[in-house]
Amino acid sequence: MVSFRAALYFLVLWMVSIVVHAMPTLDIAQAEVRLTDFTVEYFTDDSRSLDFSSVRQQPFQPTTSTTTLGTKATVTWYRVAVFNAAEQERELFLHLPKAYHVRAIDIYEERSHTLIDRASIDLNNASDAPLMYQGTVVYPFRVPSGETTVLYVRSHVYSHQWFSLEIFDDEHSRRALVGGHLDIALLVGMMIALVFYNGLLYFATSKKENILYSLYLISGLVWIALSYGLIAKSFSAYGDSVFILNLSLITMPVFLLLFMMAIFETRQHYPTEHRFLQVMLALLAVTFAYGIFDISAALKPASSLAALMMVVTFSVSISLFRKGHPLVKFFLVGHTFFVVFNGFAVLYYKGLIEPGYISSHGVGIGIVLEALTLAFIISYRIKILEDVRSRQDELKKQAATDPLTRLYNRRYFMAEAGYLLEKAKSTGEPLSVIAVDVDFFKAVNDTHGHSIGDQVLTKISAIFKKHSRSRDLVARFGGEEFVLLLPDADLAEARRCAERIREAVAGETVVVEGGEVIQVTVSLGIAEVNALVESVECAVDRADKALYKAKEQGRNRVCCYQSDALTITT
Ligand code: GH3
Ligand code: MG
Ligand code: MG
Repeated sequence: MVSFRAALYFLVLWMVSIVVHAMPTLDIAQAEVRLTDFTVEYFTDDSRSLDFSSVRQQPFQPTTSTTTLGTKATVTWYRVAVFNAAEQERELFLHLPKAYHVRAIDIYEERSHTLIDRASIDLNNASDAPLMYQGTVVYPFRVPSGETTVLYVRSHVYSHQWFSLEIFDDEHSRRALVGGHLDIALLVGMMIALVFYNGLLYFATSKKENILYSLYLISGLVWIALSYGLIAKSFSAYGDSVFILNLSLITMPVFLLLFMMAIFETRQHYPTEHRFLQVMLALLAVTFAYGIFDISAALKPASSLAALMMVVTFSVSISLFRKGHPLVKFFLVGHTFFVVFNGFAVLYYKGLIEPGYISSHGVGIGIVLEALTLAFIISYRIKILEDVRSRQDELKKQAATDPLTRLYNRRYFMAEAGYLLEKAKSTGEPLSVIAVDVDFFKAVNDTHGHSIGDQVLTKISAIFKKHSRSRDLVARFGGEEFVLLLPDADLAEARRCAERIREAVAGETVVVEGGEVIQVTVSLGIAEVNALVESVECAVDRADKALYKAKEQGRNRVCCYQSDALTITT
């Protein structure tokens, strides 16, 4: 009976308190208290100077316990009433998890219209403040049985009124303070890895887009770590000195624009689009300069500037896409991610949509998705450049070789011979040439046709390669005439090589259609280059003379040009 009367008494008291305060009241009769989503009331003090006694008379409006009110609510008061219907007094904890990004917080605790306690936290000196724990303000308060404690929180922010209140019992308070931020740490860690990787790429390629991309990433990760509380949590750093890091919100689009200019080569190939990017860059540069002196004021137009940035970058990308730029389609995909998620974030920061994980982390998610796409673009560009280079290499090779035999042509031979001659001069090593001509080759063509003749030439060329050293220069001088240049080989060494070739050719057969077997021979002339007094051409002329002699002597033989006399060897 007594407890029924007590319950009735509390009920009446509670109803009276509702009527008197006309405010929503949290009932914490349950054993566990873990309140993260509830109704609170707010009042924005446009004068920024009202004291507690005047503010409590003001009309408050309902909102949710995590709320965004945009940039026009610099000083905002939040109010929450907690009624204890249980029989024992409760000790609870008010958490303000977004406290790390504000300028100052004041808390007033009121019971039965009487102020019983208050606390002030100036974020500029909050690193050791007893109520500040790694970026979250934790304020302990009591609610006696059957009573209501009303908490007023004055939040004075730098730019965006973005706030959150939570109420926990002792155990849940401690749980809420440990861990967390793993997702943000992961994003930041991934971006740091990308920064290092692109730094290395820069050293390897000297392409400035790698540096611009790294700077864009650094801006992005600083901003993510800052706004999602990782810096507060890791370094217990708050206030003006940390708030200036919001400049990264301006440097990020600056480096993105510079990156676009570099990777799309807008200055060289797309002057109109380049000018649009430059104008946007100028606007951001002015905002940045302004932000150095007054970052809170510079951040006020941030959302509008971001919207303009999206319009410019999107229009430029679409224009480049229509002009057929091969990389821009990937950029458009990445940028669409960025724009969509940032769109959510802008609506969220302006207080236009309900808070949620995606909207409150929109900028972070957008940055990371775009960053990954940009990394892909960089690697794709490397692939394109590699393709161009290997095509150039192929062209160079084609220009240096003969298409039928794949041996070097005369032009390449002469260029390379000049280099080998210089080397022989400086080292004193011998250098020799061998001139080769196929015997009675006209007859092969006449009897079997030109294409069989070609097959024979290809086979002979393979023999030249096989029986010479890899550093010898083997060239087709024209028709069925070949020249070999042998570094570090004197006449005797060259003669051995020539003999090997002669024997190998004579022993080789080509089977033609119908089963007929063709055998050819070659005649070879040798001369050693007098490196100090003559050119390679002169030595080739002498080798040709020796070759002519070999033909005269009956072919299928080697003939050496020795000083001024010809010595013939078969
Ligand atoms: P010799 O022993 O005196 O050298 O007699 P030869 O018949 O080989 O005479 P010569 O060197 O004057 O003949 C060269 C012939 O090589 C003429 C031409 O038909 C042939 N020839 C030149 N270039 C090619 C080619 O690319 N393919 C084929 N199949 N034949 C070629
Ligand atoms: Mg000939
Ligand atoms: Mg010939």
